[in-house]
Amino acid sequence: MKKVKKEDLAAFLDRLASTRTVYAPCRDGEGTVDFQRVTGAAEIADTYGNTRLSIKRLFLPQTETLFSYRNGEDGPVFDVPARPGPAVVFGLRPCDAKSLGMLDGVFANDQYTDPYFTGRRADTVLVGLGCVEPCSTCFCTSVGGGPFDPSGLDVLLSEVPGGYLAEARTEAGASLLGGVPLLDAGSDELAAAAAVKEEATRKADTLPLAGLKERLDGAFDHPVWAKIPEKCLDCGICTFLCPTCHCFDVCDEGTAVAGSRVRIWDSCLFPLYTLHASGHNPRPTGRERYRQRVMHKFRYFVDRLGCTACVGCGRCVVNCPVNLDIRQVVGMIRDQVEAGIRP
Ligand code: SF4
Ligand code: SF4
Repeated sequence: MKKVKKEDLAAFLDRLASTRTVYAPCRDGEGTVDFQRVTGAAEIADTYGNTRLSIKRLFLPQTETLFSYRNGEDGPVFDVPARPGPAVVFGLRPCDAKSLGMLDGVFANDQYTDPYFTGRRADTVLVGLGCVEPCSTCFCTSVGGGPFDPSGLDVLLSEVPGGYLAEARTEAGASLLGGVPLLDAGSDELAAAAAVKEEATRKADTLPLAGLKERLDGAFDHPVWAKIPEKCLDCGICTFLCPTCHCFDVCDEGTAVAGSRVRIWDSCLFPLYTLHASGHNPRPTGRERYRQRVMHKFRYFVDRLGCTACVGCGRCVVNCPVNLDIRQVVGMIRDQVEAGIRP
């Protein structure tokens, strides 16, 4: 295990940002921390829990032109935006890195490969920062991750006095670290870091999920669904902030002469999301829509990709305007089904 001094890492990030795109958590005037493109280490927030918006928008932008078209002299002309090029994301949390691995299964599989998403993924190196102090709303350990889980990262940094322990997880990560002066970590630093990791991992294990999938398999018509969404506003904030929610719509904007095809985020909680052209809506109320959100995350995604579509980041818990807490919802389903309460 190697260590990098804080000042050496800052100097490295300054150099890096002059040669390629670097995104890092930055604090705005209102105190909100989000990923922004930076030109140097001085712009990066020094302390933060997690970013308000998840990492997904750097790989699946909220609005994205897929191509534009116009009538040329010899027929239609199509322009596809250029691939953005090499980038580094610095300071993402392990939960966000894990979510990208889940989105890989959606946007790159044996039936479909999305060139926009996969292009950005292939061109981007992920340098993660372990969570020393998980928020009270975090439950990453409960869903198979952890505050220092290196899955999906190219480099994992763990803060120690005066610097960071640096662990390269991929060739791209090792190559990146090749540009930083590295020291051997002392045994006392390793022991202190291990203790911090153990405590943080324990703190983020707050949601007992054992057997939930099996309970959901038989709970499609359970009466609990009618109760849960009573206060949901269908605003979609939870889905837009969620790092694993990935529904989108595709719209054509323009005329027969010129225009563009645009991909925009959508949400299964919006009433229009499943509205058919006939006027029929198979998910006409919040009951069906909220059930879809939970079932997709904790049942259908497990069937399809072998993991829950939730990394326990807690963004939906923190930002729901009516305090609808997915941890309580999951607990209610688990308890009611376990108690044998049936339709
Ligand atoms: S953020 Fe809350 S109110 Fe808004 S759609 Fe999600 S659960 Fe419903
Ligand atoms: S469902 Fe909520 S806690 Fe889970 S990944 Fe999405 S925003 Fe985070």
